Amino acid sequence: MKQTIDTKFTMSEKRVYTFGNGKAEGKADMRNLLGGKGANLAEMNLIGVPVPPGFTITTNVCNEYFEKGKEEVVALLKDEVENAVKHIETLMNSKFGDVENPLLVSVRSGARASMPGMMDTILNLGLNDEVVEGLARKTGNERFAYDSYRRFVQMYGDVVLGMKPLNKEDIDPFEAIIIKVKEQRGIKLDNEMSVEELKQLVVLFKNAIKQQTGKDFPVDPMEQLWGAICAVFDSWMNERAILYRKMEGIPTEWGTAVSVMAMVFGNMGDTSATGVCFSRDAATGENRFNGEYLVNAQGEDVVAGIRTPQQITKEGSLRWAAQQGIEEEVRATNYPSMEEAMPEIYAQLDAIQDKLEKHYHDMQDMEFTVQEGKLWFLQTRNGKRTGTAMVKIAMDLLREGEIDEKTALLRCEPNKLDELLHPVFDKLALSRAKVLTRGLPASPGAACGQIVFFADDAEKWHDDGRQVVMVRIETSPEDLAGMSAAEGILTARGGMTSHAAVVARGMGKCCVSGAGAINIDYKKRTVEIDGITLHEGDYISLNGSTGEVYLGEVQTKAAEVTGDFADLMKLCDKYTKLVVRTNADTPHDAKVARNFGAVGIGLCRTEHMFFENEKIKAMREMILADTTEGREVALEKLLPYQKQDFYGILKAMDGHPVNVRLLDPPLHEFVPHDLKGQEDMAQEMGVSVQEIQNRVNSLSEHNPMLGHRGCRLGNTYPEITAMQTRAILSAAIQLKKEGFDPHPEIMVPLIGIVNEFDEQEKVIRSTADRLFEEEGVKIPYRVGTMIEIPRAALTADYIAKKAEYFSFGTNDLTQMTFGYSRDDIASFLPVYLEKKILSVDPFQVLDQKGVGQLIEMAVKKGRSTRPGLTCGICGEHGGEPSSVKFCHRVGLNYVSCSPFRVPIARLAAAQAAIEE
Ligand code: PEP
Ligand code: MG
Repeated sequence: MKQTIDTKFTMSEKRVYTFGNGKAEGKADMRNLLGGKGANLAEMNLIGVPVPPGFTITTNVCNEYFEKGKEEVVALLKDEVENAVKHIETLMNSKFGDVENPLLVSVRSGARASMPGMMDTILNLGLNDEVVEGLARKTGNERFAYDSYRRFVQMYGDVVLGMKPLNKEDIDPFEAIIIKVKEQRGIKLDNEMSVEELKQLVVLFKNAIKQQTGKDFPVDPMEQLWGAICAVFDSWMNERAILYRKMEGIPTEWGTAVSVMAMVFGNMGDTSATGVCFSRDAATGENRFNGEYLVNAQGEDVVAGIRTPQQITKEGSLRWAAQQGIEEEVRATNYPSMEEAMPEIYAQLDAIQDKLEKHYHDMQDMEFTVQEGKLWFLQTRNGKRTGTAMVKIAMDLLREGEIDEKTALLRCEPNKLDELLHPVFDKLALSRAKVLTRGLPASPGAACGQIVFFADDAEKWHDDGRQVVMVRIETSPEDLAGMSAAEGILTARGGMTSHAAVVARGMGKCCVSGAGAINIDYKKRTVEIDGITLHEGDYISLNGSTGEVYLGEVQTKAAEVTGDFADLMKLCDKYTKLVVRTNADTPHDAKVARNFGAVGIGLCRTEHMFFENEKIKAMREMILADTTEGREVALEKLLPYQKQDFYGILKAMDGHPVNVRLLDPPLHEFVPHDLKGQEDMAQEMGVSVQEIQNRVNSLSEHNPMLGHRGCRLGNTYPEITAMQTRAILSAAIQLKKEGFDPHPEIMVPLIGIVNEFDEQEKVIRSTADRLFEEEGVKIPYRVGTMIEIPRAALTADYIAKKAEYFSFGTNDLTQMTFGYSRDDIASFLPVYLEKKILSVDPFQVLDQKGVGQLIEMAVKKGRSTRPGLTCGICGEHGGEPSSVKFCHRVGLNYVSCSPFRVPIARLAAAQAAIEE
């Protein structure tokens, strides 16, 4: 009964969109409904690119599938899918499941955002023991027919029937059977197998499936098709797809579409081939058409890294040979490029790739098949790229007039700039390092770490704080979490389009792929390279830009903002309204941030300055003193140190504002909590251990985050505020005397009541007046406050009458708005994320609805009593792109973030202005 009610309501919805022969029911801008692949297959038809006919089941059906279940969805789809199959039959002039003239299809996934290799694909669907004979007769090629059949059983067995390796050290169970059969026959290569052996494989495969999974292989093609469609939907919820979505921030509700297409065959002999190509270099961004292909093969052979593919272009072939150190062999044309081996097809391919790039105005990643001399495109999408390539491609397309400035800025993903800021190998250290071997420069960057061979070990070691390099024969989608945890990835097999290469580039991870000279033994956990045996835990270094693999740890140095990256940053400034400052408490950090384009310090925390030898002693003496006079004596000792610190920072940020926050953390953070530390402190101070312990105990609080900290310290011990004010302003006076241009700001932390600010301001102003009188010099300075307690936000109009600027401390403001301890959230956050109670960690991504509302309100109220009030943010959110965009929308003047996030914030700020 339930089914009829539901289906009546939804029956009218169109769930299946056909394409073929230059016509299509969908188009490029329907990617939300048809997935990226489905939308682009339709679009390619419309612009005259040869694509095999087929149909796409919408992403909405994926959601229905998980809501209603398999049976109901199959019933809902039945008529439309059967009609769409007929549509393919008509265009291909063949019949699905027919013994005389069979049609085979592929079944592919395709989400709105591309998720390369995360979900499943099935090729050659529609074969059984009878149809395969028909295919052999029709094509006159028995070998091809059985090769397709064994591939189908293998893929379907894996994806739909769940035939996986039982242990992580084991190889794929089907590969194990193939190896055994080849050994028995004494042959090395797959294509040396006879028809009889291929037939034997099909039987062995089916038996193994039955034995391991208990399932019979379905013979009815329609049953096969439904099994495959459902398996693709199921793959939306496989572990690696879930993890990938989490990493990329892709919502589960988007779902995947399923595209079913007529098979075209790259394995029909020497005039057939299959390949993957890019309209530009996805690793470096260079404008050079490139890619890889294999003659007489099917798509999965290129990606799986089982056979080493050949290059598409002649230039690519020479590059590749040089990287592999085999120029001689290539010159002897052992590995001819497609440009040389199939010049006519190559010319067509080159023309279409150019057409597609111009059509989409972006770098395309394409898949194609050549069947007996005819070229077919199976997919095109905007290619995944490294951060370096992202910037270069955007700036190149801008220079070429393909896109405008705003589009160039919007094309770049702020967080991906992080890759350009990673350290690179120090040139001198590199020249001294021992090169073990060379592979392909699959994803640039420098990586060094301890060798691990398995993804779960990579994760575990990483969690233990170690840096690892994952070494694999090849990677598969199951390795995703390990790849993410590793500093870099090294594979023995696979080209520039192998799984490892594509995924590493997407993640911005350093990767060297296809290093053929390395021999890995998973059981012994060793890798032998050039006669040297390395064990799990040994160090190696990878240069993903050259493909070189080095023994041991090679030193790295900081990256610089130059070339296209610098041009992009300059372009940001043209559109940005928000100023980007930095959080820095050392002259070094201030300089780094300035090089990245920070124009001022938004938060200089003073507490870190007290931890060095002499300073911590004086600090502890101050804490230990129980009279104002005693504290003043200790503070007098701290003053010159503080002045020196501020002098360095103000000088590094010369000409720009430096916002120094008065002491904030609870005092117990400065005293030792272990007996040894207390004994040492007692000796240094010349008091008894008991006295130290008494003071430590008296400082302990049940809830220190809500305790004696922030302005509560300054209000109970005003002499601390006075000392800090004196240090800041006397450093500025000295700089001014030396001809510099200091702009100090003094910030009161953690106020909730305007009176707290008033009291502190009095101390600051009177100290300043005294100092200026003593020195005979006046320095302009401003006194402002943090807004990090909800009450401060609620009463911002009163506070702004007194405070000259606001800086939103969103770490504490988040803590106090949610009531989540910022130090203890880890205990429940994973469960909250898992259960979707929270969609993200609010300490990383600003909660715009709640905390954001307080910010917006405080800005408005503040400016109602002090028009033009300067407002900024200095919590961790100041460098997170979506939070930066929010800050722009609510009218903040600046964001402040850690030095390495400054370029990210600059780009996000420019995007916010453009998006407005
Ligand atoms: C904040 O609370 O957001 C802030 C910047 O201060 P801290 O992190 O030092 O408490
Ligand atoms: Mg704070």
